[in-house]
Amino acid sequence: MTPDDAYANLEEAVRINDPSADIGALRRAYEFAAEAHHEQKRASGEPYIVHPIATAATLADMSLPLPIVIAGILHDVPEDTPRTLAEIETAFGADVAKLVAGVTKLGKIKYRGIERYIENLRKMFLAMAEDVRVVVIKFADRLHNLETLYAIPPKKQYRVALESLEIYAPIANRLGMGEMKGRLEDAAFKYVLPKEYEWTRNLVETSERQRHGYLEKIMGLARHDLLDAKLDLLDIHGRAKYLYSTYRKLLKHDRNIARIYDLMAVRVIVPTVADCYAALGIIHGRWTPLKGRIKDYMAQPKPNGYRSLHTTVFCEDGEIVEFQIRTPEMHQAAEYGIAAHWAYAEIGKKESSAISSSFDWVTQLADIQQELKDKKAYLHSLEDLKIDVFHDRIFVFTPRGDVLDLPEDSTPVDFAYSIHTEIGNTCTSAKVNDEVVALETTLKSGDIVEIITDKHRKGPNPDWLKFVKTHHAKSKIRQYARAGIAAWIKGVIPKLK
Ligand code: MN
Repeated sequence: MTPDDAYANLEEAVRINDPSADIGALRRAYEFAAEAHHEQKRASGEPYIVHPIATAATLADMSLPLPIVIAGILHDVPEDTPRTLAEIETAFGADVAKLVAGVTKLGKIKYRGIERYIENLRKMFLAMAEDVRVVVIKFADRLHNLETLYAIPPKKQYRVALESLEIYAPIANRLGMGEMKGRLEDAAFKYVLPKEYEWTRNLVETSERQRHGYLEKIMGLARHDLLDAKLDLLDIHGRAKYLYSTYRKLLKHDRNIARIYDLMAVRVIVPTVADCYAALGIIHGRWTPLKGRIKDYMAQPKPNGYRSLHTTVFCEDGEIVEFQIRTPEMHQAAEYGIAAHWAYAEIGKKESSAISSSFDWVTQLADIQQELKDKKAYLHSLEDLKIDVFHDRIFVFTPRGDVLDLPEDSTPVDFAYSIHTEIGNTCTSAKVNDEVVALETTLKSGDIVEIITDKHRKGPNPDWLKFVKTHHAKSKIRQYARAGIAAWIKGVIPKLK
């Protein structure tokens, strides 16, 4: 696609969202950026301008207002071209210039060890506290960079992808931006854990092939019942599956796909909250719900503001299907999170208090930010605020500043095995943040972990199986135990003869 074609698509998307949008300003921004970047090329060999257009297109697809889309087109101008922020302000006004300045300030952060990592988080949160729109533009920018990552050297691919998984996606999640989080994670997953990515993709595709047509049948039955009950069914569709989130669920369930109950999920959109509860009753009238799997995130929204009713039911032929029931407003909020707040004026009026109060922590952060220089205190403050940027993964560091990501509640033994099997097999004790701790201690994000080994140690203690969290550590410990028994039997049998 030529830049002009890409721009034409962008213009079309903006027009559909808002027929009264100032298309002249959009076109001027395109011409301004195209001229500024005119001789630059991307690593892929394409003209540079395709990147800012793609960034702006992601923002337009989220139905965001024009200044955000225009800032998307201009986001790399001050840093990479002779054109200045002052020129942008003159041409496009103070609001656009402020957004571009914010994105430029976030800059191109290089990931190196714990200092850079913390610096990165801090910058993101600072930008967020000043103007959350800046972070949303940065997400769109990063998404396109991830999608074109094939063009850059492998070492850099890994760094950019890892940083996206560790920092960008968790923040998108915390801002309630479900779709952005899923897309960032899946684009990064491929590069951070290529083998696991392929494994998950095959598993999901196989299970989809096996159930071909099944979900359509279930949706047909549900549609029939809901319409029969005179509910105004606005939409019913199968939920998009994200591979990385499926992978994380697989890790929690012994890598057994049959134990993931929301692998098949159906979304039901009805006009009002009352309709949602009615729809839940109708679905339970046809299929039996699983015990303990009815979740009312309307009465009790998730910390990131997510609202819906969830239920998991036994469907035809004993298959298990999850239903997610919500209003259109809740649906927009679930996909776009904080961005839905600016995108849909109507929702803004009706639900702005609900949306903004679930993001109070953004402003709270601004205050603490300024005072904290110390990285440990910084991470603790995030914890105090219950800002779970790391959801169910934790990020811990080696004394040299290399980062490892582990499941929540991992221990120094999991850490040791994820460095190297030999280090796991010979570990005797551990230091966390310079203090000696028990091997079953649970680690927290930001911990610096040092493993002390003894090369004379005769292998892992089978008792470790009681507390290790990773599949990898478990299998290595079991493997060692089995090898030990085999060797023992081998040693005993000749004596018995
Ligand atoms: Mn960029």
